[in-house]
Amino acid sequence: MPQYNPPLRDMKFVMHELLNVVDELKLLPAHAEVDADTINAVLEEGGKFASEVIAPLNLSGDAEGCKLDKSSHEVATPKGFKEAYKQYVEGGWPALSCDPEFGGQGLPVLVNQCMYEMMNSANQAWTMYPGLSHGAYEALHAHGTPEQKTTYLPKLTSGEWTGTMCLTEPHCGTDLGLLRTKAEPQADGTYKITGAKIFISAGEHDMAENIVHLVLARLPDAPEGSKGISLFVVPKFLVNADGSLGARNPIFCAGLEHKMGIHANSTCQMVLEGAVGTLVGQPNKGLAAMFVMMNAARLGVGNQSLGLTEVAYQNAVAYAKDRIQMRALSGPKAPDKPADPIIVHPDVRKMLLTARAYAEGGRALATYVALQLDKALASDDEDERRSADAEVALLTPIIKAFITDNGWIATSHCMQVFGGHGFIHEWGMEQFVRDSRINMIYEGTNTIQSLDLLGRKILANNGATLKKFGKKIAEFVEEEGTDEAMQEFVNPLADIGDKVTKLTTEIGMKAFQNPDEVGAAAVDYLRVVGHLTFAYFWARMAKIALEKKDSGDPFYTAKLATARFYFAKLLPETAGLIRSCRAGLSPLMEMDEALF
Ligand SMILES: Cc1cc2nc3c(=O)[nH]c(=O)nc-3n(C[C@H](O)[C@H](O)[C@H](O)COP(=O)(O)OP(=O)(O)OC[C@H]3O[C@@H](n4cnc5c(N)ncnc54)[C@H](O)[C@@H]3O)c2cc1C
Repeated sequence: MPQYNPPLRDMKFVMHELLNVVDELKLLPAHAEVDADTINAVLEEGGKFASEVIAPLNLSGDAEGCKLDKSSHEVATPKGFKEAYKQYVEGGWPALSCDPEFGGQGLPVLVNQCMYEMMNSANQAWTMYPGLSHGAYEALHAHGTPEQKTTYLPKLTSGEWTGTMCLTEPHCGTDLGLLRTKAEPQADGTYKITGAKIFISAGEHDMAENIVHLVLARLPDAPEGSKGISLFVVPKFLVNADGSLGARNPIFCAGLEHKMGIHANSTCQMVLEGAVGTLVGQPNKGLAAMFVMMNAARLGVGNQSLGLTEVAYQNAVAYAKDRIQMRALSGPKAPDKPADPIIVHPDVRKMLLTARAYAEGGRALATYVALQLDKALASDDEDERRSADAEVALLTPIIKAFITDNGWIATSHCMQVFGGHGFIHEWGMEQFVRDSRINMIYEGTNTIQSLDLLGRKILANNGATLKKFGKKIAEFVEEEGTDEAMQEFVNPLADIGDKVTKLTTEIGMKAFQNPDEVGAAAVDYLRVVGHLTFAYFWARMAKIALEKKDSGDPFYTAKLATARFYFAKLLPETAGLIRSCRAGLSPLMEMDEALF
């Protein structure tokens, strides 16, 4: 069975040495009292929950899966899931970064970010149940009526109820403008909702007493397309005026999907047969309201792959030190043994270091974005709130797509380290690969993320937000440019920064002639910008590691070696990606559709 050790040392490094989060949080009135000891203590306890309670259920949950009782429409989760969730609720974990007004602990988002990384490493399928609830909490917190907030937020905060997002229908996934589910207004101000949803994660289960579904549907007079979508809150059990549970609402699980991974998360076909719901936000503005949940979920999905990258790496390292096969080409390294441990072989090291560089780079980026989210939510300076919000919007598709693509590469490499044993269930590595694959698909496929980045977030505002982020990179390059020891990091960082600027202008010009040029370049472009962000954080981490490398703490020696590996072996991938971007649209469109 795979093992998991919460990477608390690296989390502390990122928070307290790289990002100085406590100083930054002190400037936000809501978090002025938060200190490093509190953050560290919460994460230490959170790490125990992840590694001791839910990690042991990962392999068995995958093998057992969820079961639907078609007569009652109830879904049973795998053995131990319900009990672990009870422990999670009793420990107060769902409330960590929720609003104190609704029973939350009011801790910064970045604490939740680290907590979720650990839970994702331990058990992605289990973690999706509370993860979706937190997304529903955020959407209702931002757009719910006072009554909806009082009814639902305390229960979502405590974890007594869980949440879902019901968007997808059989004929519409990416293009939600096509959705058909109907909402009929009733005399009492509620709506009766009828339709079919598919692929609804955590749509039905036995872990909580009620499930709060956020459902997209159309009003009778709604305009066509995405401008005619409204958002509704539809509970599994109706809620009485005193807060107690009332009648069963007709929103049922009609089937469970049989899928490649995350077997222990129930992926439900949901049928709504006149289910009672109330409107969230304005009529026909449902997509905008739902975007609060979708943005949170996009960051959450990036975090799922970050967690999988870390846990796959840890297990692959342990295996590579233990497994002996062949001798090093340069002669025996373990002459007392019949063969050398495979960690002596350069390519095994390349696979391990790739996963490590992606895990640590991803952690730095994701924690940085969580800190910006804290500023966007809690700063008392409107300019700061707006600018942090714009940066989060820019970096969200990068977290979603770059980290999940990297997670797929990393988990596959780590499985490869195990040779044939990686392909065998009991080692757990093939599960990490299978579980990581969905992260590139749901919450907007990675292609859609890249179109969002290049089209909406960059070209639509003439690259203003990218330039602002680029300015931070340029300032760092300027500051460190004269330090001899930093040249190996600063020069390639400056180089990739220049290349991104030129590439963006080039694609922008081509897109004036033909907007399809954006679609042709977007996926490669996102990967290049992803590397730009990683190069920035790796250079900053290298600076700290250089300063502290003589401290005797091997942590900094390893950090420096990983930074060097990243710049020498992973960043150069951008050269090929840029060439591919420049090749443009015609190689993709030249062939007639009939010839495919
Ligand atoms: C396990 C699982 C859990 C899920 N959980 C949920 C959930 O909880 N709630 C929910 O509402 N949904 C959920 N989904 C649905 C998921 O978000 C969708 O599958 C996803 O958004 C893609 O939609 P689709 O499957 O219909 O693919 P399509 O939209 O049919 O896309 C097919 C392909 O076409 C590409 N494509 C589409 N449009 C364009 C374009 N303009 N340019 C370039 N390429 C394009 C896509 O990138 C994709 O590769 C889940 C799905 C799965 C498999």
